[in-house]
Amino acid sequence: MCGIVGYIGENQAAPILLDGLSKLEYRGYDSAGIAIFNSGKINVAKAKGRLSVLDEKTSGGKSVPGTMGIGHTRWATHGEPSDENAHPHVSKSGRFAVVHNGIIENYISLKKRLEEKGFEFISETDTEVIAHLFEYYYKGDIMEAMIKVINRVEGSYALGVLCSDYPDQFIAVRKASPMIVGLGENENFVASDVTAILKHTREIYYLEDNEIVVLKKDGVKVYNMDREEVQKERFTVDWDVSAAEKGGYEHFMMKEMEEQPKALRDTISPRIKDGKIVLDDITLTTEDIKNINKIYIVACGSAYHVGVVGKYVIEKMCRIPVEVQVASEFRYCDPIISKNDLVIVISQSGETADTLAALKEAKNHGARILSIVNVVGSAIANASDDVIYTWAGPEIAVATTKAYSTQLAVIYLISAYMAEKLGMLTSGEYAKFISEIEALPDKVAEILKHKEDIQYLASKFYNCHSIFFIGRNLDYAVSLEGSLKLKEISYIHSEAYAAGELKHGTISLIEDGTLVIALATGQELFDKTVSNVKEVKARGAVVMGVTTESHENMEDVADHVVKIPETHEMLLPSLSVVPLQLFGYYVASNKGCDIDKPRNLAKSVTVE
Ligand code: GLU
Repeated sequence: MCGIVGYIGENQAAPILLDGLSKLEYRGYDSAGIAIFNSGKINVAKAKGRLSVLDEKTSGGKSVPGTMGIGHTRWATHGEPSDENAHPHVSKSGRFAVVHNGIIENYISLKKRLEEKGFEFISETDTEVIAHLFEYYYKGDIMEAMIKVINRVEGSYALGVLCSDYPDQFIAVRKASPMIVGLGENENFVASDVTAILKHTREIYYLEDNEIVVLKKDGVKVYNMDREEVQKERFTVDWDVSAAEKGGYEHFMMKEMEEQPKALRDTISPRIKDGKIVLDDITLTTEDIKNINKIYIVACGSAYHVGVVGKYVIEKMCRIPVEVQVASEFRYCDPIISKNDLVIVISQSGETADTLAALKEAKNHGARILSIVNVVGSAIANASDDVIYTWAGPEIAVATTKAYSTQLAVIYLISAYMAEKLGMLTSGEYAKFISEIEALPDKVAEILKHKEDIQYLASKFYNCHSIFFIGRNLDYAVSLEGSLKLKEISYIHSEAYAAGELKHGTISLIEDGTLVIALATGQELFDKTVSNVKEVKARGAVVMGVTTESHENMEDVADHVVKIPETHEMLLPSLSVVPLQLFGYYVASNKGCDIDKPRNLAKSVTVE
């Protein structure tokens, strides 16, 4: 959500900022802007709409020369998308320019105070108060002003600040919004995430809340709120540049779906050694596992759907009760948690605001936190007792595919790991489960090989107004994800229903020609779901069945059948989700939708 890039060095800043911002486009935005320092002055260019508008307006950055600057793509929270509301925001005298990601929660009272003191506001944003506060507190020492501003504002922020009195440095800070520092040769950067600067450097610092970073051409210093220098650990990012480029694919989403076998292999292989699951990354002991009273899985969006799969799998394999909750609900529901509860938190970015807040809530109750995160050093990772990273690499498309798949793989690893420690699996069952997990990447690759079959089905159904997904247990959990994938990128209304629940209301929406996608992959409930397929067929539905190779009688009831390879019952979601991802993609493609950047959505949701 929103993107920030800052640069200081020997090269022209504007083209670097524009290029960096383009790498952050996936996060979602509605306007963009840059501020460049040149000959004692700060020049600002901003524009509503796509980055290309700003690019054109500035002739690719050429019209705003200078070797230090900050750039921003805005995802409006306060005030409509417009040129005025776009960042950077400039203080009254023009001395300060500010870019901000997040929300200043007390901006109304601050704005009132500043207006009383004669400051005039030209935008409707919460951010503008920051620019004016800098001006208000500035007495010739930018660090002092920064600390005063931080002490005054409430909410979340990643800030990049230029001050025309400082021709050789800019400063930045973050709290509850993402920002990293990139360390180059005679050039340094800040950015909302590493993809924006990978082209220039892989050496980075992760910032803690309220660490203030001062960037000069030849060095970076980080300070705490007492102005003491903090020694930061350097990280080398091993994501390569191509991971953040489309590499010949029409969309990142297709590239990322195709990357799933590799992402799964990278996530699974290092954690299986000599036929055993080895989770070196966690400190949870066998004793701890035996003492777990209850597990909560807390997440948002697709990560929540991973949690729904997790509930079925962990309960079945470990016989520990699991409750799955949407993070935005969990954080405010005064959850009943105790220190013997394990809270599993799932987030691709590791910065999801609601998930982070839910984590803190759980921690306050004394629960132990295990997170599943894709971004190393992210806020959620840092705040957890244990982290298991998904090694999916950068995910750019807003609609998640490889992050979902790798999160699921981690859930399987954790489930089997705990089940083994609890003595719930015979050695034969354990070995079989592990070999089936290891076989998942190849099986996913096999499904992807036949993607044209799904493309054909999508071309038949892309004009539908409403599509239902049904399934039972694990198939229901995957239906939730299939339905979300479709609606978020194709804008077709869709619902996922537990197949047995249909006749308690939803079936009244089924009419002649309504498409129902029925998942019936498991052995045990296959016949039950087939009965539900017959019920919707009798009311005129057209049915696309998704099942495994051995289930031949699906052909007798469904109009179209998509087959997936056989695997362990518990692992079926890893395979059945793939045709649903492809279906969403091809439907959206047929409709000409902006697949990687669907309307109104942002990749990492860093506001509440
Ligand atoms: N709250 C700020 C605004 O609406 C920043 C939004 C963002 O993070 O892009 O301008």
